[in-house]
Amino acid sequence: MNKPLLEFTAKGIYCDAAKIYLDPWKPVDKAIISHGHADHSRWGHKKYITHHKNVPIIRHRLGEIIVTGKEWEETFSINNVKFSLHPAGHIIGSSQIRVEHKGEVWVFTGDYKDEDDGISTPFQPIKCNTFITECTFGLPAFTWTPQKTVFEDINQWWHENRQEGKTSILFGYSLGKAQRLLKYLNTDIGKIYTHGAIENMTEVLRPIVDFPKTTLITKETKKEDLSGNIVLAPPTAHGSTWIRKMVPYVTASASGWMTFRGARRRRAIDKGFVLSDHCDWHGLLKSINATGAEKIICTHGYTEIFSRYLREQGFDARTEETQYEGEPLEANTTAKEEADL
Ligand SMILES: [Zn+2]
Repeated sequence: MNKPLLEFTAKGIYCDAAKIYLDPWKPVDKAIISHGHADHSRWGHKKYITHHKNVPIIRHRLGEIIVTGKEWEETFSINNVKFSLHPAGHIIGSSQIRVEHKGEVWVFTGDYKDEDDGISTPFQPIKCNTFITECTFGLPAFTWTPQKTVFEDINQWWHENRQEGKTSILFGYSLGKAQRLLKYLNTDIGKIYTHGAIENMTEVLRPIVDFPKTTLITKETKKEDLSGNIVLAPPTAHGSTWIRKMVPYVTASASGWMTFRGARRRRAIDKGFVLSDHCDWHGLLKSINATGAEKIICTHGYTEIFSRYLREQGFDARTEETQYEGEPLEANTTAKEEADL
């Protein structure tokens, strides 16, 4: 029997015909990288191929690596296997990876969302035979509100806190969520301050997207400077000595997990906004149907429940073990964010 075009190995998703890995979790010679989050773009590969918008992101995170940037839909062949990158809509520079060989097409999503967030190139469904999908929020309970409404709520929350003389602290991951929040904060309300991890990553992305002005919090920043203004911080900053000087403050988290009120309470966060860079239940199903794929492989998230549902709908669906995390429920501290605290 022929080998499948893509296999799930101990090092990652592997294309034997081209001798290349997709988002490997162990160091390899050649890797195609879907996007800049730490669980997909790891340190230690000899050569990286990724979308050119992701190049400055992974250089910032991984240092001086050997990386080639590609354009959307630019086809490149390795041993007669055709590869191309297509927008995944998850964060800036995030791609689905299309692999074609002997008339068979596989698509690997990495992470994706079907809502146009206004800063990432919007997701485009790609026709394929086999679709490798994440399902971070693959339960019917996850249904997103359009982001316009969520941002109105966030700005209203900030406005109310300001009237009470409080500092608003909004938590979001330093790559992706933080920039999406920043883009839509209403600077008529006040000033936007940032934690170092977010300031640094946003600086990397400013040549790609037009963001409002931010002010980095330093040792010189005074409590009075922050009063009534908003602070963007990574989840790891919660409960740290860093935020103590901001008293009186109120905290909020923007995450798909805020669907569960328990998730907010357990982390002692005052307010939760449901906002995710992944598809909700309907988004996953709509995207999968749009690919026309008969075979579906679920990589991370509610894989068992979701793949069972797909089988009930007539898909040939299964789950494969990977080391991708999707949108972590608990703060996933990267070494860089720790260092910046
Ligand atoms: Zn991601």
